[in-house]
Amino acid sequence: MATGRAAVLDQPMGTFSIETFNVPDPASGTVLLRQELAGCCATDAHTYLGMWKAEFPVIMGHENVGVIEAIGSGGALDFNGRELHVGDRVIARSTYCGTCYECRGARQPRNCRNRKVQYGFSSPTTALFSGGYGEYLYLSSPMTTFMLKIDAPPSVAVLHEPLAVAAHAVRKAQPRLGSTVVVQGSGAIGLFTLGLARQAGAARAIVVGGPAERLELAQAFGADAVVNIDELRDPEERVRAVLDETPGRLGADVVYGCVGKSAAWSEGIDYLRDGDGRFLEVGLAGDDGEVGFNPATQLVAKNASFIGALGMADEDSVAAVAMMENKRLPLEHMVSHQLPLERVGEAMEALNGTYLLDGRTAFKIAIAPNGQMP
Ligand SMILES: [Zn+2]
Ligand SMILES: [Zn+2]
Repeated sequence: MATGRAAVLDQPMGTFSIETFNVPDPASGTVLLRQELAGCCATDAHTYLGMWKAEFPVIMGHENVGVIEAIGSGGALDFNGRELHVGDRVIARSTYCGTCYECRGARQPRNCRNRKVQYGFSSPTTALFSGGYGEYLYLSSPMTTFMLKIDAPPSVAVLHEPLAVAAHAVRKAQPRLGSTVVVQGSGAIGLFTLGLARQAGAARAIVVGGPAERLELAQAFGADAVVNIDELRDPEERVRAVLDETPGRLGADVVYGCVGKSAAWSEGIDYLRDGDGRFLEVGLAGDDGEVGFNPATQLVAKNASFIGALGMADEDSVAAVAMMENKRLPLEHMVSHQLPLERVGEAMEALNGTYLLDGRTAFKIAIAPNGQMP
């Protein structure tokens, strides 16, 4: 029987070790991928710290792209209903079943009762090759697997999950044609939200973030102006600098909060214009504590709307793939590091620290279990 390797994390803040497992023969309706790349994101860094729910020991890696190695009897279709074949490149992640009470009656698909295997958050004792940090990814739960064929190189396709998160954010706070948006934060979610908001009709975009290399990339994604938080350290100064960049100093029509720190919230709200401004928070996936907030001056007096966005729906992943295939965003510059399985621990350290790896700023780190990918 063929075997393959995967990086297994024994416990929160524990040790990654490379373990060898038998490669399963895919059961009816399931698909086995040979992994090309698995992205590393803040959720993985939080899973490592024990701040995000996972089943230990765990094989992490939820941002996956690979090539179909084998298909169970009866064949398989992708989300758009296209027949899948051995050799097809697909993106894959866990989704909801769409048929249970939580999905339909309660309209809470995040609580879907049929999602027993969660790719990137499950244990090899529950399901073999259940995460992307392995040579194979076994999509063993057909009812809750989202798969889509993609015509893009692996180093672009691997970005599908954060791009879908950004697509969800822009869908929930769609900029009107000609409007001004501010993106607070210049990580992957910030840059993708910026790029998609521009595509969706924003006439002017301002990015607040750092370091300088990321702000350069922000300009490639469509920022007209950038505010470097390493240079302007005082939040009030930053608010003034942002307002200076908006037409008439009126403030932004839409602010996308993509920082992931609740301390940044109040500042983000202050970028908003008076009258029908919308603030959408997409960065705060984990609980980062409470902040001071004045509902009279910051919400009611401004006639503002506050919107939260977590994760994505399947339609957002379909949109993300279309945007990767049409090549309008400079996505090919995002993956800054491709690392072998043995270096997963270093990737987590970089994400939980300074984002420096091998002497360079990390934009997006990807694990390449089967060697470097184009
Ligand atoms: Zn992610
Ligand atoms: Zn369900």
